[in-house]
Amino acid sequence: MIISGKDLSARLKAEMAAEVAGFPGKYGRVPHLVVILVGDDPASMSYVKGKAKASEVVGIRNTTIRKPADITEAELLGLIAGLNADDSVDGILVQLPLPAHISEPKVIEAIDKSKDVDGFHPLNVAALWQKQPCTLPCTPKGIIRMLKSAGVGISGKRAVVIGRSNIVGLPVAKLLLDENATVTIAHSRTADLPSVTKEAEILVVAIGRPRFVTADMVSDGAVVIDVGVNRDPETGRLCGDVDFEAVEPKASVISPVPGGVGPMTICCLMENTIECFLRRYTPDSI
Ligand code: NAP
Repeated sequence: MIISGKDLSARLKAEMAAEVAGFPGKYGRVPHLVVILVGDDPASMSYVKGKAKASEVVGIRNTTIRKPADITEAELLGLIAGLNADDSVDGILVQLPLPAHISEPKVIEAIDKSKDVDGFHPLNVAALWQKQPCTLPCTPKGIIRMLKSAGVGISGKRAVVIGRSNIVGLPVAKLLLDENATVTIAHSRTADLPSVTKEAEILVVAIGRPRFVTADMVSDGAVVIDVGVNRDPETGRLCGDVDFEAVEPKASVISPVPGGVGPMTICCLMENTIECFLRRYTPDSI
């Protein structure tokens, strides 16, 4: 079974659009997401465009603010401070990566926690690890949604996550743990990685290396979620961290690249923006 993040996200966005359509009547306005893009990196530009397009589908107001790559850190922090104070703004997202002269941790920390739609703010991260109410990071949240929509039972399963980044590997592992999976986190220093991955009933791969996971690393019937977004060095096409053609016959469920986790990430960004908006009107509701 191939899980289409594209189809699932289209369904969820349609549901959100129906909900948002009622907001002007109830709250007098729709949620407002501000996306800041620094520089003109083609991949970042395409991600930002995707976010604007999804906002349009869902009926969320989207403002994209473009700044040149040589903007100073102080100017960017000043811009964020202004948006934090702006009552008409519900969500703020700064597209990463940023130019080397700007500190990403400082920028992430500068965004008001209540407007942190990415779920990257240290207070949101801490709340996640302490099982407190928080904004969940979009990619891990999207992965859990995909698993559930595919009818994959997570509780009691052996899950292996390859990758331990703050934005994917670690929070995915935490969300799987919260769903009562038994989780192993593998990384670049893991000895004999195939022996670890072959134990996985659910394998989540977030490395950033094209077609790294081969069929011999996956057990029969495993559920395989491929987070990687890479360019195939031979064809130049988008591909994941998993050798899809080789692994698909062994897996019971697998997500493709493109059309898997990527669309779900944007879908969950829309959901997070709506949650941040609603929390301002009904603080106890979420
Ligand atoms: P990252 O910060 O570079 O982390 C990569 C992780 O992979 C690290 O923990 C690293 O281990 C591990 N790793 C690298 N080589 C390995 C190896 N040979 N064996 C085992 N582990 C290895 O990357 P990221 O931000 O988590 O992103 C991972 C991938 O997901 C990228 O392709 C990125 O583009 C993609 N991504 C997709 C979405 C989406 O929405 N679809 C969202 C975010 C990211 P160490 O910790 O030991 O260095």
